[in-house]
Amino acid sequence: MSRKPIIAGNWKMNKNLKEVFAFMAEIDGKLPSEDKVEVAIAAPAMYLVPLVHHRGKNPLKVAAENVYFENAGAFTGEISPAMLAAEGIEYSVIGHSERREYFHETDEDINKKAKALIAAGVTPILCCGETLETFEAGKTAEWVSAQIEAGLAGIDAADVAKLVIAYEPIWAIGTGKTATAEIADETCGVVRSTVEKLYGKEVSDAVRIQYGGSVKPETVAELMSKENIDGALVGGAALEAASFLGLLEIY
Ligand code: PGA
Repeated sequence: MSRKPIIAGNWKMNKNLKEVFAFMAEIDGKLPSEDKVEVAIAAPAMYLVPLVHHRGKNPLKVAAENVYFENAGAFTGEISPAMLAAEGIEYSVIGHSERREYFHETDEDINKKAKALIAAGVTPILCCGETLETFEAGKTAEWVSAQIEAGLAGIDAADVAKLVIAYEPIWAIGTGKTATAEIADETCGVVRSTVEKLYGKEVSDAVRIQYGGSVKPETVAELMSKENIDGALVGGAALEAASFLGLLEIY
């Protein structure tokens, strides 16, 4: 089964609009062919529409970093799956560990977001990952499986097959400590077997699983060579255009 890799930058709360345009100018015409890899940028909400309008012919998908699970109404400060869909935004990250930790998002919230995105036609990038404490206690597999099971609860097999899951060990995010390619592959394998247990082999063969956590141009090739890793979700190394392009050199 060949799964098309997806390399996604996650800008988090960085950049101003001028810097967004400078980044776009620098990557213009330099992205690899869409036949080989899907490339996406997850950006703060206020840059999503400018990114869609300025991507031109560049094969760049645009992702929200977060979304709410209702489509309209009195929810001050939120943006909805319907709004993303209407503007041509293809993806939304959900359940990033920073959202879980600082904004107290629960598995139940994340599951509602996944369902609302799917209903609106936006693909979720569902994040999971364990703390250093859980990793050191040898409980990564059970932790990550539980997050996946809760995040996917009640979602149809056909929809699960199309989504993206990002495994990001919290101890490797922004710390410069990349999980070894073996550990990353092993836990992405745990995610895949959890999907298989819940939905069967056809779905687990199709679902794409990214690794995230201090991925850099120097480490991306080895990570991407692993059986269970189908892409990367990249923070720090996706902020500068040169480094972002460096992540894509293998394609
Ligand atoms: P990092 O962030 O690449 O800076 O570790 C990854 C992420 O949080 O998605």
